[in-house]
Order: sequence, then structure tokens, then C-alpha cells
Amino acid sequence: MNYEKIGPVEIVIGESQSRAPFSTSLLIRDRSTEESTLIDCGGGPSVFAYLQQQKIRQIFLTHFHPDHTSGAPLFDQTQILINPYDYARLLQFAEMRQSQATGTDSRKGAGTAQLIYPYEQEIHMSGTTVIMLHAPGHSEGFCCPYIPEHGILMIGDIDLTSFGPWYFGPDSDIDQFIASARMTLEVDAKYFLTSHQKGMVSQEEYPSKLEQYLEIIDRREERIKQAIKRGCSPAELILQDVIYFRKDHGQAAFIVRNEQMGIAKHLKRMIRSGEPLGDYFLEFAMAHKLNPDFVDQFTRPAFVGKAGAKSETKMN
Ligand SMILES: [Zn+2]
Repeated sequence: MNYEKIGPVEIVIGESQSRAPFSTSLLIRDRSTEESTLIDCGGGPSVFAYLQQQKIRQIFLTHFHPDHTSGAPLFDQTQILINPYDYARLLQFAEMRQSQATGTDSRKGAGTAQLIYPYEQEIHMSGTTVIMLHAPGHSEGFCCPYIPEHGILMIGDIDLTSFGPWYFGPDSDIDQFIASARMTLEVDAKYFLTSHQKGMVSQEEYPSKLEQYLEIIDRREERIKQAIKRGCSPAELILQDVIYFRKDHGQAAFIVRNEQMGIAKHLKRMIRSGEPLGDYFLEFAMAHKLNPDFVDQFTRPAFVGKAGAKSETKMN
């Protein structure tokens, strides 16, 4: 078990140094009662076994992605809370499942959430105040837990890896990702904690590390521009090492999907900034069997609840 403590906050690193499909959790302990609150639950089996020995009263999920939520179903006696956007999304998935009976669902970790927490408000978690700062971009509902008293900001999937930002979900948005990343620079924190690999970064190092990380977005877009300039066809654009190396495409099915979605997001972004790529984008979507509407598919929360408020609709 690899962990570190800052005051009552225990940083529980996931298996494989929190490399996806695992992630880091925060365990906040009440000093007097020993009860605790967990933020994110995707550390892997050995981490879940450790957490099951703790008296966890509530689990807050930063967003619905399985690498942050896979362990939630193991805590069936614990209240599980998620942000309003993802709650709305999960309701949609639940409806879809009922109407189409679509087999296994990788989102069932987040699907265990019964309650909604609010963004930007002080939430008391086992005696410690935490504010869930909405930071859309990586996903629409993604947020960064901020613990002002101890100067901790969990930047989560703004993960500072050398791979670069992940914005390949239908509800991801590149410009929002950049805006949210810049928002984190305004937060008065001493410790910036990623959900994967890199771990903790100090206040001094953070701005330059973040800048280097965001520059990867520009480099990806530049590779797309150059390829199009060379006359690269929409079908072949995914073979230009824009996001992943072409040689790695065979490693997992999601890699080609991410390459396609990532490029589609960039093309749409380039169109928004005035480049005449409308037809090229449609050809790209057709060549890769992407539904153009699926490339940015956002939900709006059906309702916004208070932390701990019982929701009216059941998800399962
Ligand atoms: Zn994620």
C-alpha cells in the first residue's frame, strides 16, 4: 500500500502507480469518530480490500469514468454521491439499458451513485471542508476536489502525463479542458494531486508542468494541420501519429477509437476557429463510422440537488 498523509487526508495511490485503469483516492478521516469519507474509488482490488477495513460513510465520485468508480459497487452499505451532470447521464444510460438491454455496462461503478452533490459549495466530509470545483473538459461533469484548510487541490485527470490531455469522450471538450486547467492555477493550493502516475506536484512546479502538458494539445493540432496540408485523406488521418503512435494501434481497441474521437474533436475546434474544414470533417466522420452528433454529446443535468439530499429517481 502506497500512501501519504496531509492532516486528516490520506492519499491512497492505486495499483500500478495509479496508471489507468486504476486511480488515486482521497480518504478523509474524522479525528474523533474514525469515520471517513472517500473521494473516488478506482484503486484496484488490493486498495479496495484496504478501504473495506475503514469505516467509510460516504463516497464522492469526481466523474463517472470507470477508472475512478470501479470499486463503488463493493461498498453497498455506503452512500455514493456523484455530480449533477453525471447523475443525469447515468439516468439516460439506465433508460437506454432498459429499452435496449445492452449487455455489460462498464459504467456500473458510477451507476451505484444514489445522490447528487453540488459544485462550488462547502461540503463537510468527516470534519473536513471540501469544495468540488467544476472543471469540465475531460468530461462534462468532471470536478476537482479542493480542501482549502490543507491546501490540497486534486487536479485528477488534468494528470500532467507525457501522453497529454484526455478528451476523447462524447462529452469531452478541448477548449473547456484548457479553460478548466487554467482555472486550477487560480486556486490557492500548496499541493496539486493528479489521479494517475505523476501524483503530487508542488505549487512552485505546477504552472510550468501544466503549461508543458497543455502544449501537447497544440502539437496534436499542428500535426493534423500539417497532414491536411500534405493532402492526407480523412481515412488516413488516423495514421499520422497525431495522438497515439500508429505502431501502438493494435494494443487495444480503445486506442483507435480515441485517435478517431480526438482528431474529430480537433477538426471541430479548427472549424470553430474559422478553418474551412466542414466537408473534410464530414468525410472524416463517414470514413471512421463516427456519428457526427456523437462527437459532442452533452447532457444537461435534469435537476441540481444538494449534498445528501435524497434524489427522487432511482437509477438501477
Ligand atoms: Zn476520467
